Amino acid sequence: MEIILLTVEDSIAKSSINIENELHKDLSYTSGQILSSMNSEPLGRDIFSKYIHTNLGDPALFRGTKKIEKHVIKILGGFVQLPPSGDGIIVSGGSEANITALWAMRNNKIPDYLEHKDIPEVIVPESIHISIEKAANLLGIRLKKIPSTSKYQIDLSQTKKSISERTIGIVGVAGTTALGVIDPLKELNDICLNYDLFFHIDAAFGGLVLPFLPDTRNRFHFSFELEAVKSITIDIHKMGRVASPGGGLLWRDRSYCKAIQFTLKYLEGRPKQNTITGTRSGASAITFASIWQNLGFEGFRKSVLTCIENTKFLAEEFSKRGFYIPIEPVINILGVKTSNNYPIDINILHQKLWELGWTTTIVDGFLRFVIMPPTSKAHLLKLMDIIDKIMNVKS
Ligand code: PLP
Repeated sequence: MEIILLTVEDSIAKSSINIENELHKDLSYTSGQILSSMNSEPLGRDIFSKYIHTNLGDPALFRGTKKIEKHVIKILGGFVQLPPSGDGIIVSGGSEANITALWAMRNNKIPDYLEHKDIPEVIVPESIHISIEKAANLLGIRLKKIPSTSKYQIDLSQTKKSISERTIGIVGVAGTTALGVIDPLKELNDICLNYDLFFHIDAAFGGLVLPFLPDTRNRFHFSFELEAVKSITIDIHKMGRVASPGGGLLWRDRSYCKAIQFTLKYLEGRPKQNTITGTRSGASAITFASIWQNLGFEGFRKSVLTCIENTKFLAEEFSKRGFYIPIEPVINILGVKTSNNYPIDINILHQKLWELGWTTTIVDGFLRFVIMPPTSKAHLLKLMDIIDKIMNVKS
């Protein structure tokens, strides 16, 4: 068989792609019809692209950017009563923040991990995001998943029963991926205090929603005021409106992240890093700082409350049509179901909506909607009109 050797030029030509053509296949957040994503049309694109080159991994070169990152941590920390001794980092998203949080939890609890015989265990709700499973897989941790109550929150008595001498911590969620539910954080904190466990809160989505709701401190106790809370994940590329990648991780105390700290001896100033990545752009931190300066607390509050109002409106519209709403939406995520004898199956509705350019997802048997800022009430009225038409054709 003859072997044909391609030149470098030939192989590049053969593998070339029509970039514009491919990008035309992507869907756009601006349509208001993307109801399956926690990301949305970003604000501050010009700032993001202007500062894309900045590197938070090399603070001697980017001193200003580093200061802006600290400023953003202060803003996020202000929502959750981060103590003055606290610290944080801007990372690529909720997944990286959660993996880093469990890394710090493991190393703080078991400093001699490699000599340790038993597999450490972390207790999590069954609603936990997949990033915690990734963390457990990477870090050699066993997850103990606790079933949910009828309110889709972690079951507290099952949580207590699952604690063993191998348990190192508990993860609670403030805004679950499927239904936007908030776990009973205060009660989980009490359990952690009783059994000397570390408590991490995954508020990747809820972290920039809950602070804008009325009486949130007393209702949800989403705060470092809960003494066992060692770390909190809050994303800035979800409700924070920056382009991805942008996540945030806050630590109760600076000393806590020493357990995952490495010195970069080859960089000026020998910076210490407690991040998974080395080089990381400061663009999302800079953009968030700028968006916050422009919108302020009131601007964010308005945007969040509009999303929640729209979500409640959608819930009412589905309810009127006989759909089952498992849980009244607290934040801007809604799940709906149909009964067995309903004129249309949820999976068929999901498929038809995608065919018509409205994106939703099926999660845990629910048709799930995430209502983000570009989606208005007018979009939702149009959506319900389309759903009525689909159902009329079906029935
Ligand atoms: N945690 C929760 C609760 C989430 O809903 C998500 C994403 O949906 C994540 C973590 C992961 O975030 P990211 O996709 O930014 O890595």
